Order: sequence, then C-alpha cells, then structure tokens
Amino acid sequence: MRKKIIAGNWKMNMTPSEAVKLVEELRPLVQNEAVDVVFCVPAIDIVPVAGAVKGTNIKVGAENMYFEESGAYTGEISPKMLVDAGVSYVVLGHSERREYFHETSEDVNKKMIKALEHGITPIMCCGESLTQREQGITIDWIRQQVKVGFQNISAEDAKKVVIAYEPIWAIGTGKTATTEQAEEVCYAIRNCIAEIYGPSTADEIRIQYGGSVNAANAAELFAQPDIDGGLVGGASLKPDFGKIVNY
Ligand code: PEP
Repeated sequence: MRKKIIAGNWKMNMTPSEAVKLVEELRPLVQNEAVDVVFCVPAIDIVPVAGAVKGTNIKVGAENMYFEESGAYTGEISPKMLVDAGVSYVVLGHSERREYFHETSEDVNKKMIKALEHGITPIMCCGESLTQREQGITIDWIRQQVKVGFQNISAEDAKKVVIAYEPIWAIGTGKTATTEQAEEVCYAIRNCIAEIYGPSTADEIRIQYGGSVNAANAAELFAQPDIDGGLVGGASLKPDFGKIVNY
C-alpha cells in the first residue's frame, strides 16, 4: 500500500512573517498521520517554516533547487543549503518554471540526480498544455518528460521520487481534470515507470495529481487506483488545505 502524499505549493506567496502565521493556522488542521503532509514554500520562508513545523507531522519542501554543489551561480540555492535549512522535499520541473524560466527536462533530470544524492525527495512535475491535449499527444508528451527526467537514476532511487501529474490547463484555472482524465495519465505514468524499471518500482512510486485540487474534489481524485495524493496550489494557502489532507 502506498502512503498518500499531499503537498502544498505556495508558489510566490507569503512573506516570512505571513508564512509563520499561516503555518500556525494550518498546523492543527493537517494532523493526519495516515498521509505525508508537505509544505513547499518560497526559499526565504524555508527557515521560519522549518521552525514553525518542528515537532509536527509537516515536512518542508523547496520549490526549486540548482544542480551544482556550490560556486558562482548568483541567486541559486544548492541542495546542501536546503538540507541544512530543514528541507526534505523539492518540487522540480513545475510547469511555471518550465514556462517562465525555460527549464528543460534535461535540467530537471540533473536536479533530480542532485536532490537524490543529498537525500532530498524530488516531486517531479509533468503535464501537457491544452494544445497538446487537443492534439492527442498527452501520453506521448508525459512519457517523454518522465523518461528524460529519470535518465541515469537507479531503480532504488526512482522509488523515492514523487511524480506530480499536473495538466497545465488545470493549474490555477479552477478547471480540474476529470477523475477519468487524471487517472488515465497517472496510470500511463506508472506503466512508463514499469517499462523503465520493472513492476515493483512502478508499484512503489507515488504519483500525485495537481491542478485545481480543492476540498470538494480531493476525495474522488485520491480514490483513483493510480493517484497517491495531490500537489495543491491555491487551496494550500487556506484552511481548505486541512480538508484536503483529511479527505
Ligand atoms: C500547483 O501549483 O502545482 C497547482 C496545481 O496549483 P492549483 O492547485 O492552484 O491549480
């Protein structure tokens, strides 16, 4: 049985003091030991949030990370810095980073390898645009993102990764994929992992759905056989996140 994992992606929201207030508000609402709960927060919020979640079931995630150890990469954050600050998860290849910051699947792959080397669990995002869905190439596209993202990663490491399937047209739009659409792609992702690594890795790896998840649709989405939780944007900043965690 795969343990469900529900992660909030705060995106570029919350100053450090607002972040602490939000954690204090959400802390009592997300106490569910049956699921893994992660708050993925802006870099500047990591240290205060790590302090505010101490002693709780909440884990801290970063929203990005660079793939070098250290050096002349102005503005970037290394895996070692994240670990030292209390981070155990990192969102990699979110569609907003791919779109606005030109991250490629090759970059995502390098970051995956580095994160795993440092014991940080990657939450690797993949997802199709509306045009790609209308062109009927959704599964081909996702398979390519997964295959490139997992290059040179061993089966043992692959099992630790969390994959987030996030159709771009459903992110922040209020348009959720139907449960059938979400399950169809998550099932295809699991098959793709089975082709690369074999059935036991595919059975163990956790696949989230993301894209306008809210308190009303979470239970049905998370009940699908290949959906092991969610990556939640907008609703992770509200008390609704507690309802999602306790779906
Ligand atoms: C996200 O940020 O990954 C996301 C899915 O956002 P939202 O839930 O707001 O659509």
